[in-house]
Amino acid sequence: MPHDHPDHHQRHHRHGAQDAQPSASGAPAHSHLPSDPALRVKTLETILVQKGLIDPAAIDTLIETYSSRVGPQNGAKVVARAWCEPAFRAALLTDATPLLADMGLIGRQGEHVVVVENTPQVHNMVVCTLCSCYPWSLLGIPPTWYKSDAYRARAVREPRGVLAEFGLCLPEGQSVRVWDSTAEMRYLVLPMRPEASAGLDEAALAAWVTRNSMIGTGLPHPPAPTQAQP
Ligand code: FE
Repeated sequence: MPHDHPDHHQRHHRHGAQDAQPSASGAPAHSHLPSDPALRVKTLETILVQKGLIDPAAIDTLIETYSSRVGPQNGAKVVARAWCEPAFRAALLTDATPLLADMGLIGRQGEHVVVVENTPQVHNMVVCTLCSCYPWSLLGIPPTWYKSDAYRARAVREPRGVLAEFGLCLPEGQSVRVWDSTAEMRYLVLPMRPEASAGLDEAALAAWVTRNSMIGTGLPHPPAPTQAQP
């Protein structure tokens, strides 16, 4: 299935013979390429703005959206609601997309979401082996480790070893199911509700739902106590 990240194209990039020409300093011209990804992004943005292809205000809006309004708190609300409303949980596991659309949680990188439920028998874990497909509308921007070669390769080959490195040691009797995301299909793990959370309401429960618990590399846990402001 196709993926939608530019690194696929970069992998197939071939440098032309002109790349090998030495610069005036005698160093290969390659040394003039920016090594910092941020510099490359800035350069691209500058060119696109100069050509009138993008609006800087639109870029600022996107950055603001993903830095403050879209994040794991959205997925946590979905999980907490599923823990509290059996009918919602059942519908979510059957076809999550229309429910998430109703909650305003379908958008860029989250058009088709499948929710997979952890049980005492099966623990679910999500990876994108080809690049870094991820349900942005539910979890925000993917963490660096999710995009790393090591996680993408090892999540399938040795999931229990990877989970142990995240501090998650599963019981022998619980199998691990690994889901490979694509541009068309993103996955959200519905973790099991911790017994210690009995009696809490939906809003309080959402604070127990961590980002990693919705990727499958962690479990829900009580929120850290907030420090009193001096
Ligand atoms: Fe991907």
